[in-house]
Parts: sequence; structure tokens; C-alpha cells
Amino acid sequence: MTTASTPDFISPDPVDLNNCDRELVQYMGAIQPHGALLVLNAANLQVIQASENSLELLGQHWETLIGVSIDNLLGVALGASLREAIQANPIKEAMVNILNIDHLPGQTVAFHLFANQVDDLILLEFEPRNTLAGQLSIDVLWELRNAFTSLQKSTSLQDFLQEATNKIRHMSGFERVMAYQFADDGSGEVVAESKLDELEGYLGLHYPASDIPAPARRLFAMSPLRHLPDVDYLPVPVLPAIDRLVDLSCAHLRSVSTMYSVYLRNMGTKATLVMPLLIEGRLWGLISCMHHSASHYLYYEQRIPLEFVSCMLSQLLAGRQALDQQAYRLRLEIVLEHLLGAMQSSQSLPNALISGEWHLLSEINAAGVALCMDDKCEVKGNTPTTKDIHSLIDWLETQNKDVFATQTLGQLCPAFSTLKAVASGVLAIRLSQGCPDWIIWFRPEVIEEIQWAGDPHKPVEVDQVNGLAVLRPRASFATWKQQVIGQSTPWLSCELEYVARIRYAIFGYIVERAWLLAQMNAELERSNLELDGFAYAASHDMKEPLRGIHNLVEFLKFEEAERLTQRGQLRLDTILQLTQRMDNLLAALLEYSRIGKNKLELAPYNTFEIITQVVQLVKDAYSEFSIDIQLESSFPTLVCDGLWVARIFQNLITNAIKYNQQPLKTVAIGCDTTATPPLFYIRDNGIGIDLHNQQGIFELFNRLYDRKQFGEGSGVGLAIAKRVVERHGGRIWLTSAVGLGSTFFFTLSPAKPD
Ligand code: ADP
Repeated sequence: MTTASTPDFISPDPVDLNNCDRELVQYMGAIQPHGALLVLNAANLQVIQASENSLELLGQHWETLIGVSIDNLLGVALGASLREAIQANPIKEAMVNILNIDHLPGQTVAFHLFANQVDDLILLEFEPRNTLAGQLSIDVLWELRNAFTSLQKSTSLQDFLQEATNKIRHMSGFERVMAYQFADDGSGEVVAESKLDELEGYLGLHYPASDIPAPARRLFAMSPLRHLPDVDYLPVPVLPAIDRLVDLSCAHLRSVSTMYSVYLRNMGTKATLVMPLLIEGRLWGLISCMHHSASHYLYYEQRIPLEFVSCMLSQLLAGRQALDQQAYRLRLEIVLEHLLGAMQSSQSLPNALISGEWHLLSEINAAGVALCMDDKCEVKGNTPTTKDIHSLIDWLETQNKDVFATQTLGQLCPAFSTLKAVASGVLAIRLSQGCPDWIIWFRPEVIEEIQWAGDPHKPVEVDQVNGLAVLRPRASFATWKQQVIGQSTPWLSCELEYVARIRYAIFGYIVERAWLLAQMNAELERSNLELDGFAYAASHDMKEPLRGIHNLVEFLKFEEAERLTQRGQLRLDTILQLTQRMDNLLAALLEYSRIGKNKLELAPYNTFEIITQVVQLVKDAYSEFSIDIQLESSFPTLVCDGLWVARIFQNLITNAIKYNQQPLKTVAIGCDTTATPPLFYIRDNGIGIDLHNQQGIFELFNRLYDRKQFGEGSGVGLAIAKRVVERHGGRIWLTSAVGLGSTFFFTLSPAKPD
């Protein structure tokens, strides 16, 4: 591959990259012979070093130049222009053509003068002008305009690159021009090629990362053109050797490494020109030109339009790549709109994102998707099993990424290589911090055959020279086929953007739901409090007039008894019964609303003591019945509101006796203290409750029988018990069967997670 540039080839044992990398190419202190270099002290513009070919090109032996001021060399007028140009131009880390010199005093050659400042040095490069070229011709401008238009018209990235290689070959006269694209691992592929028919094609060939190692990629990204007109050139030293390294990265005349020249010769290449393809400053690929039949020098006049094309390509490439994904991007956009709509109208995320007509698998190029939230996993399409998905999530949790994408899951984590048929590719988004909630898209393995230009595992060959291991670039570029397994198609940038947007939309949804729920809870709490306040005030205030009515009726009955008919007296008795009943109801309601309204008085209570007191109370109240109440276990000490808890036991034990027609009414009270929280129960041998009515009996004023059956009751006892239990954070329920008795269970604090 023509684009290899530095000696940083990977090497097999025992020689490694570090011990072969003796030539730090930018510090080699040599240039190519098609120009001359002077190294100046930036403070006084005096020559510190000069290239050995100075005599040939500048008319002075390099030794005579050392210490000479630039004014003496160029003449005062040109020296002044140079100072001015250096001050006016930002010449750091960029090769800048600052002056055109007709000729040096006493010389006939005209030059382009390039300047670049490196630390406290100025590099001046002299390259002969093509005096025949004259001004930039209208033909060149026309060619550029033509190139720009046809590149703009290209319908795909592939077309664009093909057109670019065609145009550049036409403009440069090189025999072969290739577009080369880097993969994330630094390897690359020839993705477009324009060449003489008789040359062997390189299109589709892959080159290992070591062919263009990272330092070489950095240097390529720095300059718009890198020209090596003659692979067989003799490097020209920059003299004298000084005790510091001079960085020639930005010098376009910079010599190339011997490894690189050998590499090119092995490929049968005589001259090259390389242009970077940059997207947002990142090296996307290269345009690589080669000449095979002879050396091929392009004057700067010929390189300028190519330099322009190189910049234009980078500019257009980003847009072209985006355009290539545009149709797909638009389709994903439409899906996103639908998902957003579904999320707004749906109560659950799985409903909105998985079950609807538009879902997480719509349009996106993936075979399956899993939505895992709140310990549930909903899947669509072809996915691993739920168990494997959960293992994958455990692993994703360790990756510390909110958006995670890989096309080689099995390589990243060998434990998942068994999933390659469904999940070689994984694209995942984390839905919340702290909880393992994820959406994961899956892609299957796609077995691909890659054609390498030579064995990628042997990018260098090791020779023994005088007993020392010496690295040489490989001599064979014979196609080497490799089957790539365990890899899916790569995830595109537009897909990553799409899932990131879904993630933000879900965040919005979750935050909005939480806010709504908090609002509803606050609203509910307020209206409950209001209701309790109202019930309390109403029952409290009604008690007084009711007592008044009751007293007045009693007076009436006492004072007017003789004048009233028997019917009238019966009516007064009924009024008295009704007011008594209403008084009972109001008392119960008052009690019920008080639990909602008042704070619990929490303290440690021995529940055994509470229960024995209540049992005694109930036994006294129902002394006419035969009752057997058994305490079946030990009872714990709990932090609770003792008075209210006593009320729970009182209501439940009373009911156990009231709703019971057995001659001996038995009640068993116990607590499973091994349960967390402790579980109380009250079991009776009473009439039982059929399944259908079991849920409703905890509602306020709900009675299953007529008032006259099973004694008076207000239908508030169980509602109070439930409210007290819930205020303690517990739960109450029952098991019962008609004729077989009932057992009521309750706890006084929330169940703890396992
Ligand atoms: P009440 O004041 O009517 O007893 P409760 O709220 O305590 O009100 O009970 C509601 C209804 O539940 C009762 O009217 C009764 O029909 C039924 N009930 C409650 N406890 C029992 C029980 N242990 N056995 C059978 N039925 C019961």
C-alpha cells in the first residue's frame, strides 16, 4: 500500500515495534532532493542548519550559509518581506507558502518559499518554481469547477469517491488513484480506485493497521498533500548535525523512512502523493496516488489545484456521508415521532414501545429488541433468552456507558460468544441511573470474507544482518483471504443518534409520570384530609343537635305520656331508637375520621398485653355467650400506636364472637413472629364469609346482614381496622369459607424485600 509512511510496523517476536522504531521519521534530519531547507533562529533569522543540496539549488555551499542572516541571503528587500510575512501569517504547525521569489541574488532559479515555525526555529523550504506554468490558467479553474459540480451531483458516497479518484487521476497524471477508508481498529480498505487498465486492481483490498500506524496517520492529517516524487531518491542531510532534534513534521520536503521506501518498492511503486480525507478534523481516510512506471514529480503549481481538491473533498465528504444515511435517518425519525406519541397516550412503556403498531424494531436495521425495566423483560423479534439477556445486562452495567454499541460482543466478552447467531451486534441504552433498566437491540453474526493485501499477521519480515534482527516490510502482497466470524454489520452514527434520542424521550416520559404521580398523590392526600376533616366536623357537630332531639323526645315521653295515644308513644320510642342508632353511627364515623386526621402516637408496645386487655373487655361485653379464646403463640413488642392497635384486636375479636352461631364460640389469636414483619391472625368458628363478599367487607358502612341479625353493627369496625393497619404501613386480609369460620391476618409494617 502506497500510503505507509513511517517505520512503525508491527513486528513478530522477538523483535517488536519499540526496538525497530529507531527512525523517528519527523526527526530524521534529512529531506527529499526536490527542494532545499534552511533552519533559522526565529529571534534573529540567522541560519542554523542548511540542506546539503544548497549549493545546487541556492548557489551557496551549506557551510557558508551557517550563521548568515536571511537579509544577506535574500537581500534586504526580500528579507523585510519575509519578516513581514512571518509576522502576518500564523505559521505554527502549518506549512505556509509565504513568498514567491523570482530568484536569489546572483542566481537564476525562481522559488516558492514555504515557512513554518517550530518552537524557536523557522523552517524555510525552497522549491523551484515551474516557470512555464505562469499564472493559474482558466483551464485549471474550469477543471476545478467541473470537479466540484460532478462531486456535488454524485448520488452516493461510493459514487462520490469514485468520481474523486477519477478527477484526481486526470488532474495529477498519476497512474493509480485510490480512496482508502480507515476502520476503527486502524486497518483500512480501498473503497474506490481509478487506474490504468493494465494495472492490477486494488479495489476491496484491506491493509492492516500497521501499514499506516497511528504516528503516520497523525502526519497525514496535518498536511493537505504529501508528495514523494521519487521512491528511489537519495535523502539530503540537513547539516551540521546539532545537539537537538528538529521536528520536520510540517516540512513538505521531509524525508520518508527507509522502511516506507522499501515497502513502496516491494509494491512496485515509484512515486506517490497522499491527501487526507478529514471529517470534523478526524482522519476518515486517504486519497492515495501512485505511479508505477517511473518517478512522477508535480510542481507546486500542479499541486495547488490538487490541494484545493483535497480540502474540497473533506468538506463535501461529511455532507455526502450524512446524505447517504439521510433516507434511513428520516425513516427512523418517523418511528421516533410515533413512539413519542404512543408514550404520551399510553400508561406503560412496554405498551408504547413494544406492543403498538410502531415499535422499537420498526425500520431499524436490527433483528430483535429487548425492553428490560422493573425486573420485567419484554422482547420482540430474534433475541437471546431472558436469562441470557439478564446476564448481558449484568455485564453492560459494568461498562459504565449510557449508550453502548458493539458489532463483536463475543470478542469483548467471550462468555457471550455462544450468542453470536443472535447477538454479535448489540446496541444498548441505559434507561435509569441506579436501576438495571435497558433497551437492547440485537444483530446476528454476518460471516464476511476479507481480502487482505498480504498476510495481515506478517506485516514485516525479520532478517538477520550481522547477527542482528532487522525488520523489513513484507515483500509479498499476494491476496490473503480471511473469514471474519462473530461480527455483525456495524452500527451507524444515525442509529446511535436515534437510540440516544429514544433514551432522552424515555427520561422525559419517566420524569413526567413521576411528577404526575406525585401530584396525584398530593391531591389524594389533600382530599382525604379534607374528607376526614369534613366527616369529623360533621359528625362532631351533629352529635349535639342529635342529643337535643333525643333529650326533647325523652321529655315529651315523660311529660306528655298520658295525653299520647299508644301509637304516638310507640312512635316516640322509635325516634329514640333511631337517634341512638344515629349517635352510634356518628361515633363510629368520628373514630374513623380521627385515624386519618391525627398523627399516630408511636411507642414500643407489648402486643401480648394489648391483646389480653382486649380479650378481657370482650369477654365482659359478651358474658352471656360461651366463649373460648385461646392465645396460640408468643407476641412481639412493636413500635405502634397502642390505642389504635387495641382497636384492631377489639373489632376483630368482637366480630369473631358476633358473627358466630356455635354454642361454644372459639377464637384463636396468634402471631407468626418468624415472619417479617410479624403476622397476626384471629381465627373463629363462626358463620364464615363467601369469597364474593370478602373484599367488600373492609369498606365503610358495608354490612352483609340486616341490622337485626347478629346484633347491632355500624359497618365501620373493619374499615377502622384496615385504616389503622395501613397507617402503620401494614396489610390486612382474610381467608374464610361459609360455615367453616374465618381467619383475619394483618401486619403492622410493610413487608421487607427478600
Ligand atoms: P359491623 O359493625 O357490621 O360488625 P364490621 O365492619 O366490623 O361492621 O364488619 C363488616 C361486615 O363483615 C359485618 O357486618 C359482617 O357481615 C362481616 N363480618 C365481619 N367479621 C366477620 C366474621 N368474623 N365472620 C363473619 N362475618 C364477618
